[in-house]
Amino acid sequence: MLQPWLLPVFDGVVKAYYSGHLGHAQLLHGPQHLGKDALAQALAQRLLCQRQNSQQMACGECTACQRFVQGSHGDFRRIGIELNERTGKPKTAIGVDQIRAMSEWLILTAQLSGPRVVIIETAHRMNVQASNALLKTLEEPMPGRYLFLITDQPKMLPATVRSRCQRIAIAAPGHDPALQWVMQQGIKPDAAETLLLLAGHNPGLAVHWAQMDGIAIHQQVRKDLEACMKGQSSTADIAKQWLADEQTELRLLFCAQIAHGLSAKWAKASSQGQQKPQSVQKLQEWIDGINRLRLSLSQPLRHDLGLAGLLFDWRQLLQEFR
Ligand SMILES: [Zn+2]
Repeated sequence: MLQPWLLPVFDGVVKAYYSGHLGHAQLLHGPQHLGKDALAQALAQRLLCQRQNSQQMACGECTACQRFVQGSHGDFRRIGIELNERTGKPKTAIGVDQIRAMSEWLILTAQLSGPRVVIIETAHRMNVQASNALLKTLEEPMPGRYLFLITDQPKMLPATVRSRCQRIAIAAPGHDPALQWVMQQGIKPDAAETLLLLAGHNPGLAVHWAQMDGIAIHQQVRKDLEACMKGQSSTADIAKQWLADEQTELRLLFCAQIAHGLSAKWAKASSQGQQKPQSVQKLQEWIDGINRLRLSLSQPLRHDLGLAGLLFDWRQLLQEFR
């Protein structure tokens, strides 16, 4: 079942398909956790479904649908980051071999005499050669061949690739439908409001964070920053706790959010002459430092000293300017 905010997009694409206006390549872009992947999957199945006259979801019963659900449809391919066979770890990019193999496959006759459909997930992770290879395919569109590129970072795709796709923006719904949907996922009203606020009104992200106990993590980060500022906890201890498990990235994200809120307050106070102008600049630089650390977490480095250093700077900053 698709999330409600995806249904108009689904209908639009299916209508375009049946009226012969669907382009060769679609770029589904928008924030994480809004269901872009499920949408592409539903669209691929709809395009391949043999009950062609309906403008609803794929029938789920025809040969094409059965094969699709089993993952054995010969006219469908999904491309994404593969695992390195030697190390078992994910590769760093979508490689040119994957795109070339897909392009060669795409021009062959369809097995079920319908279209051929490709999903490229995390499309921004194609390396330069892969993007160039894809460009050739995009420049020579074939009838009955459809590509769905999915990304939450469209700017990281080359402009040449972007310009050859029909762009489909996936956006969060307004506050009320978002809140309603989050509560339908079994989250209590108060928690749903708080999570939505933290997640910038992205309901998918709010539910994702609910599953990670996001509210408790947020409260703890706030407490830790307070204790750090007052000198009640050592920076080394807080750094150790923040880095202790899988939730480090979320803690740093919340930390940056909290600091960002403070920065907005300081900016206002500064404009009224109640805060030193350089305080906002320094706090902004500090937030950049937290974000850089967050982005470097996937690298096999020691992060504890860097984080403890940032927390020390936080204490200095707050004691100097508060
Ligand atoms: Zn079907």
